[in-house]
Amino acid sequence: MTAELIRGRVVADSILSPIANRLDTATTKPGLALLLVGDDPASHVYVGMKEKKCREIGYHVEKHVLDAATPEADVIARVERMNGNSDIHGILVQLPLPKHIDERRVIESIAPSKDVDGFTKENLGALMSGEPGFVAATAAGILELVKSTPVAIEGSHAVVIGRSNVVGKPAALLLLREHATVTLCHSRTRDLEAIARQADILVVAVGRPKLVTSNMIKPGAVVIDAGTSKVDGKLVGDVDFEEAKEVAGYITPVPGGVGPMTIAMLLANTMKAMEIQTTS
Ligand code: NAP
Repeated sequence: MTAELIRGRVVADSILSPIANRLDTATTKPGLALLLVGDDPASHVYVGMKEKKCREIGYHVEKHVLDAATPEADVIARVERMNGNSDIHGILVQLPLPKHIDERRVIESIAPSKDVDGFTKENLGALMSGEPGFVAATAAGILELVKSTPVAIEGSHAVVIGRSNVVGKPAALLLLREHATVTLCHSRTRDLEAIARQADILVVAVGRPKLVTSNMIKPGAVVIDAGTSKVDGKLVGDVDFEEAKEVAGYITPVPGGVGPMTIAMLLANTMKAMEIQTTS
């Protein structure tokens, strides 16, 4: 069996096209501030991609790049200025931050109403309790990718490998909210292979190339690979794609799967933030 490709760019376009259409007639533009501290090359690439997509679609975007040695208090002061800027509806702090900065303190300085990455405790708590809030863009994108397949989430067994606050945990909670039975795996899970093989929906967010091989996939399963690692200069996921596509029913490629969805959901969250802020 050869799996059907889940094309992240196509699903992302289906999210972004209606937003672009609405912007044609909108009087206010959604505003996104991107804050980058230091010179991590990958972070610069990610922020550059987000900035480019914002410009393409017609958002107001501000990129703030601070020196790696910037004191934590100055980073927080910058976020607080963004909180008070009515042209900015969403704030994204690119992680990781330099080691001398406490990421949690910086994230918590973002006003929850502008936390379009869904990383503040308030938004994480809202997701946990099923209340409205912003959901981490990558996790929200993963759910959209699963929904783009004909496989029913309700009643399915979803296995999520990786339990970070930014991808694995929110993805698991979203699938649970959609009535999947969810198993959340991590580095200390025993017999990962056997658990993964039970999954109707398998989400992998670890950062280890070829962690998931074909013997870990149930025939016909939906496989969503959020992993991104560089191997010989090439971007690769956590799933051994060549093997897995012979067993899975639906599978995301890397690149071109989860990545474009992260940006699309970030922009969708920023639009939602603008609507909430301008009508309240
Ligand atoms: P992270 O914070 O490092 O978390 C990795 C998770 O994987 C942890 O929960 C860890 O378990 C688990 N893990 C590590 N080794 C494992 C193993 N052998 N078996 C099972 N679980 C294992 O990473 P993250 O931020 O969630 O990111 C995960 C991947 O997604 C990375 O490759 C990252 O680059 C990628 N990512 C992609 C996008 C995108 O837009 N495409 C966005 C965000 C992240 P413990 O908790 O036990 O340590």
